[in-house]
Amino acid sequence: MYDAIVVGARCAGSPTALLLARKGYKVLLLDRGNFPSDMPFSNHYVHQTGSARLKRWGLLEKLAATGCPPITTNHWDYGAFTLTGSPVPAEGGVTEAFAPRRKVLDPILVDAAVAAGVELRDGFSAQEVLFENDRVAGIRGRQKNGATVMEKARITVGADGMFSMVAKAVKAPEYSTKPALEGSWYAYWSGVKMKGWHLWLRPQRVIFAYNTNDNLALIGVALPARDLSKVRVNLEPHYHQAIQEIAPDLAEDLKKGKREGRFVGGAIPGHVRKPYGPGWALVGDAGYQKDPCTASGITDAFGSAEWLAEAVDAGFSGRQPLEQALAGYEKKRNDTELPYYELTSQLATLEPPAPEIQQLLAALVHNPEQRSRFFGVLAHTVPVPEFFAPENVAKIMQTESMAQSSGR
Ligand SMILES: Cc1cc2nc3c(=O)[nH]c(=O)nc-3n(C[C@H](O)[C@H](O)[C@H](O)COP(=O)(O)OP(=O)(O)OC[C@H]3O[C@@H](n4cnc5c(N)ncnc54)[C@H](O)[C@@H]3O)c2cc1C
Repeated sequence: MYDAIVVGARCAGSPTALLLARKGYKVLLLDRGNFPSDMPFSNHYVHQTGSARLKRWGLLEKLAATGCPPITTNHWDYGAFTLTGSPVPAEGGVTEAFAPRRKVLDPILVDAAVAAGVELRDGFSAQEVLFENDRVAGIRGRQKNGATVMEKARITVGADGMFSMVAKAVKAPEYSTKPALEGSWYAYWSGVKMKGWHLWLRPQRVIFAYNTNDNLALIGVALPARDLSKVRVNLEPHYHQAIQEIAPDLAEDLKKGKREGRFVGGAIPGHVRKPYGPGWALVGDAGYQKDPCTASGITDAFGSAEWLAEAVDAGFSGRQPLEQALAGYEKKRNDTELPYYELTSQLATLEPPAPEIQQLLAALVHNPEQRSRFFGVLAHTVPVPEFFAPENVAKIMQTESMAQSSGR
């Protein structure tokens, strides 16, 4: 009998297992995959807030030691103007984002969990959730050697990603669902160096680029999800044409570089699920998944792992009734993440910003402090409602109009 079984051992599952084990709990961590392994359809930008969480867990140095280049500057080109700068730092003064390959990041998380005393079983497919008296009691699954086994725990955590078997089995209520809004195709390039997190933002098209491990740059083209299937049949010409039209300097760089590997990508819908019930909890994409355009799934998975581990500990240690602690986990997640979820969904339409938002963005060109706060919104260091509060927007526009009337 375990205290916790965690199904899924990547960005959400391994940190949840690690944090519970560090609090002294007996944890079984399962994944049908093996490590190290890549996640071929996911990009892998980790915001400053995600780096700060890795630092808190003692893992940021390990990540930096893989040669993954730190990213400290954003270059966001809106056509009429470009916003360049750094987000407000994350907790502990962390200024660096990273974009590690998942075959690099995920093993760091898994190894840390094992070092903390977690029992890892990779190559293990959880097939069924076990119920006893309407309460989840554990799982049944197939081990690497083909044997079917049953394992029991006080809590079973679904960290099993967007198609979560645990969420389906417990019929986790879903709210705020969104269709797939944008989709993207990307490839890795050698011989192309980016200076930070680059975005070229145009109506119906976004180009994104940043450096990753192995001296490679990830360069992608996003478009409305409804257009993905049209483009799929003519991928390479479309990719290069979009970059040529929107980011001609980058197109020139690509001519000198070499594409390493095939184009990959796709589009995903959004969901928010109730993340707990009798004997079960959900973390990471299993509980909350948003459009990838704000590159936040990993950062958010780390956050929900921390909040869930705290809640489970509060319940198991008797500091709080478990159900109340888990309700607190859902509230914390929703209070923190739902404004970001709505912003992400709005950006993912790839529609041009409303005229007042265009004016606000243009005003940031000459306002380094507020520009840094705007970048902080995306990096999760400045809450969405705080930046877009009418008083803050009025302050930005007033500063801009004063600068204009004084001839700047
Ligand atoms: C196109 C695209 C681009 C993206 N770009 C970014 C980005 O730049 N930055 C960012 O932060 N996020 C990005 N994301 C989102 C990010 O990939 C996810 O949010 C993140 O992987 C969620 O982590 P997770 O641990 O919850 O789930 P996953 O990483 O999906 O891990 C789930 C694990 O559960 C295991 N599993 C599933 N079912 C079972 C089972 N029955 N038994 C055993 N094991 C099981 C799987 O093998 C897997 O290892 C992107 C996603 C997409 C699709």
